[in-house]
Amino acid sequence: MATKLEIPYPTPVEAFLSESPLGVFIAGVWRPTKRKKTFETVDPGSGAILARVYNGEAEDVQDAVEAAQQSFERSGWARMASKERAVYLHRLADLVEKHSETLAEIESLDVGKPLAQARSDIASFPATMRYYSDLALRIQYREPIAVSRHEARTVRHPWGVCGFILPWNFPFLLAGWNISPALAAGNTVVLKPAEDTPLSTLYLTRLVSEAGIPDGVVNVVTGYGEPTGAALANHPGLAHLGFTGSPEVGRLIAQACGRNLVPVKLELGGKGAAVVFDDVDVDRTAEALVRAVTLNAGQVCCTATRWLIQERIYDRFVSLAIDRLKNVKIGYGSDPRTEMGPIINRKQVDRILGYVRKGRREGADVLLKGGEAAVPGKRRGFYVKPAVLAGPPDNVAAREEIFGPVAYLLKFRTEEEAIGLVNRSAYGLANSVWTEDLERANRVAEAMVGGNSWVNAHNVFAHGVPYAGIKLSGMGGGVLGPNTLFDYLRDQSVVRPLR
Ligand code: NAD
Repeated sequence: MATKLEIPYPTPVEAFLSESPLGVFIAGVWRPTKRKKTFETVDPGSGAILARVYNGEAEDVQDAVEAAQQSFERSGWARMASKERAVYLHRLADLVEKHSETLAEIESLDVGKPLAQARSDIASFPATMRYYSDLALRIQYREPIAVSRHEARTVRHPWGVCGFILPWNFPFLLAGWNISPALAAGNTVVLKPAEDTPLSTLYLTRLVSEAGIPDGVVNVVTGYGEPTGAALANHPGLAHLGFTGSPEVGRLIAQACGRNLVPVKLELGGKGAAVVFDDVDVDRTAEALVRAVTLNAGQVCCTATRWLIQERIYDRFVSLAIDRLKNVKIGYGSDPRTEMGPIINRKQVDRILGYVRKGRREGADVLLKGGEAAVPGKRRGFYVKPAVLAGPPDNVAAREEIFGPVAYLLKFRTEEEAIGLVNRSAYGLANSVWTEDLERANRVAEAMVGGNSWVNAHNVFAHGVPYAGIKLSGMGGGVLGPNTLFDYLRDQSVVRPLR
């Protein structure tokens, strides 16, 4: 039995949730799905049902792709000058800012994250939208090519309908990172948010309408991976697909796109390492890594979960980090004292606890045992305490993505040994190096195999700096960089031989 919902935020959040069941958004219209089946979205902090949402099926995805196709061909969006599109996209960014508190409250309720974190996620959306719509004003859409005895040029066109399938950990921020470059380039989109956290994306559709963006440019179909996500991934009408999520589902998506020969971008999981040399300020570094592993309750693809600590400072670092982790304030998202909110759902709690058990069974020392946490008044919330393990690098808890507040400690002596430990991972998303010696920092940063290396910091994002994964962490060029805009434009050459 789910608990009764006590919304800490009165209108407008309550008014939005009272529209439940919340409709899908196709061709500028909110509507039920064809079969009118719904599912519940739950507040992970209290276990209460927030709203019912329509569960899209293949025919709804079909409608959304058709609407996006028609809009691509007929609404004028694809052909309008980029400065005209930028007017709409800036208007959308302004509206997101105007509604940012409501959106942050919705995001905090739906994902469980502390309100301050939700506010920063929401703020990322307009920044991304403005970055790409402004970049689209400055690039060349027709570039002459100097080649002997030919008149030649490259012309850049939007692809058409771009599908997006996104995960639950940063729903609104990732919606911004993904759809902004596609829209700025003149594509139309069909977005499937994660079933656990569809609410902020559905609220966004209200703002898309208010911004006057033509009908069918943005379509949202909610639902589970199966059937909704699978129907979108397998749709032959897509011109491009962007997926963010687990490597397991990423493989299925890539197979579906392979069958239809649809270009695909995958942003997948990670097992980020932090390499800490013995010349650092140990207190500050321990605090920074504690913050990294508890950020979003550890449900962050790129965060530092393997802590490689140089021998001389190992004991001191471990004792400081464990003391701090024991005192992390676990609580409800709207409580301003909360440092770490709940885990997204029961299944994910079981997965985290299961990894600590499996790690111990495979011989790791459990330095901080974690386990379920109790938050007063929120008996049915999904809370866990941070855990720390230490041991050999081939332990399951050192190798696989846990997606929770669990750190795995490894001791190293030399720089080469540390680089070897980082690079034995099957993942390649983001790692960091911590040292006062900048020459060494840069050397190690470049030697760590992954899409992103950070120096004396972890989880660093800036518009204009590409963020991508390799190996099990993804393929297709990533997000946030200037090249991402070009990923949403197809190149065409036009050539005339000169006699
Ligand atoms: P997930 O792979 O289970 O689900 C992601 C999305 O795919 C959801 O919308 C889901 O409904 C959909 N989906 C599930 N099965 C599908 C199928 N058969 N066909 C089509 N769609 C399907 O991932 P998750 O649990 O939501 O998110 C956690 C994962 O995402 C972690 O591995 C994390 O590291 C990764 N992630 C990566 C990044 C990045 O930028 N690299 C960012 C955030 C999260």
